Amino acid sequence: MTANRSGGTERVDCAVAVIGNGPVGSALAILLAQHDHAVAVLERWPVPYSLPRAVHFDDEVARILQACGIGASLDEISEPVDVYEWRNAAGLPLARFGRDGLGPSGWPSSSMFHQPSLEARLGDRARDLSTLVLRRGVEAVGLTQSDEGVIIHARNHDGAALEVRCRYAVGCDGANSTIRQLLDVPTIDLGFFYDWLIVDIVLHEQRVFDPINLQMCDPARPTTVVSGGPGRRRWEFMRRPDETLDDLESTDAAWRLLAAWDVTPDNATLERHAVYTFNACHAARWQNGRVLLAGDAAHLMPPFAGQGMCSGIRDAANLAWKLDLALGGRSGDSVLDSYTEERLPHARAMIDFSIELGKIICVSDPAEAAARDELMNGSFTETATSIPPLPPIAGALLPADDPVAGHLFPQGMVAVDGARTRFDDVHGVGWRMVTVTADRLDLDTALAEWFNDESGTVVAISPDADVDGTYATWFAAHYCSWALQRPDFHVQGTASDVAGAEALLADLRHRLNAPPTRTRSPVRSPSQP
Ligand SMILES: Cc1cc2nc3c(=O)[nH]c(=O)nc-3n(C[C@H](O)[C@H](O)[C@H](O)COP(=O)(O)OP(=O)(O)OC[C@H]3O[C@@H](n4cnc5c(N)ncnc54)[C@H](O)[C@@H]3O)c2cc1C
Repeated sequence: MTANRSGGTERVDCAVAVIGNGPVGSALAILLAQHDHAVAVLERWPVPYSLPRAVHFDDEVARILQACGIGASLDEISEPVDVYEWRNAAGLPLARFGRDGLGPSGWPSSSMFHQPSLEARLGDRARDLSTLVLRRGVEAVGLTQSDEGVIIHARNHDGAALEVRCRYAVGCDGANSTIRQLLDVPTIDLGFFYDWLIVDIVLHEQRVFDPINLQMCDPARPTTVVSGGPGRRRWEFMRRPDETLDDLESTDAAWRLLAAWDVTPDNATLERHAVYTFNACHAARWQNGRVLLAGDAAHLMPPFAGQGMCSGIRDAANLAWKLDLALGGRSGDSVLDSYTEERLPHARAMIDFSIELGKIICVSDPAEAAARDELMNGSFTETATSIPPLPPIAGALLPADDPVAGHLFPQGMVAVDGARTRFDDVHGVGWRMVTVTADRLDLDTALAEWFNDESGTVVAISPDADVDGTYATWFAAHYCSWALQRPDFHVQGTASDVAGAEALLADLRHRLNAPPTRTRSPVRSPSQP
């Protein structure tokens, strides 16, 4: 990265400019800098945002955070949860969702966490990376792009101009994304929006909440009562149709609503209260030439499934290795086209799922609620219902004839020198050709060199190393003995023998080197008002 000044404008040159240092921009910048790319992150606010929004992440996201180098501190800022129960106004159970124990990605299926603490851990990690520079108090205000690169025009908090010249730029600048607006990308609005008062509490004396996560489907006041991470609780109260925003936007309103839960100024500290409008929408395209969108800049969903930030962190994992390939000239630009192709339908599925949950939760009509309660309570069973697995990804980078391609590959514990360790902590993150057989690949020299250049490795897991049987079970269930895992932990493809595994690598090399198909439409810049 280089920086200099010309005619009063400071100029920074880097490989990738990331606009926005929320959890998504921060994770993306770290993943890129871990590949030694020069990354400049521009963040409008001079100091970190201190208030939580997200409180839940899943095992896949925990694995991505592990890949960002903060796996060791996740236990300190999060607590696993097993049950999320929905009840009606009378307290009768309507549904019980269970995500017990470890998920396939090797972390608790559901964790509740404190967002500012997560962002602080990501910030610490970012400071360790010499090619990552975070510029706080800098707002992106314009962009221009050519076939060679992008210029982000920005303004320092003191009004001074800053120009960031980069090969690619990623707008991780949240719901009101400036970058999305500069690209003139339309937003597809799915027409679902409700206002909710969000209240974060620290109780002076800890209490046992059973269930730890509760949804009260009370038409008089739909209310969410969940963990806010270790030592914290979150209440969310829906605005009723007969109320105004002002009725909820006050400390008094927060305490008044909390009183019903025996939470008062005498026994609790109010960390914050704010009204949010939960929206459901997404950008129609997530790429325009060399500029991409990720996180809330690309998609927004109501938080009922706890998947908004999770989807953004998935964007970062999907995009990071593709940008790494494109920056290294090791692939055509079509690899970047696959970003929207793979991620948009997945995020859309999460938006649709969140809306479906919201349609049940946000009912404020008593008759409609009574009909819902009768139906749901009638079919309620004590056994928790599993939350459906997230959909696979699909697209031109993945072989269409392999039913396992696009699904997540598991992370198990492996034995190394007598110690049990998560797979990624031993074998790192990248292309991994994994097998539970003792067979050896016999790649031709060119293919072996190519795989090596991609930092790909072959990992044979012996029965002794597969301490919890994760890999033996997975390969048996999928009738194969080789799996090619992508750097974002999805399965590229599977094979049942050595010849098939070699063919899988040859196919991957072919797909990654596909010719460029980049398209670009006009972009507004400060000089083109
Ligand atoms: C009440 C609530 C509960 C939620 N619960 C969950 C949950 O449990 N689980 C979950 O996964 N998700 C949840 N979400 C969603 C989650 O909070 C967001 O999806 C996530 O924080 C988005 O991260 P981001 O990095 O994309 O954007 P942000 O966190 O919004 O970060 C964007 C950053 O860009 C900066 N920026 C903006 N414009 C510019 C500019 N022009 N120049 C420079 N910088 C700029 C901003 O200052 C900001 O720091 C919840 C959301 C809400 C509101």
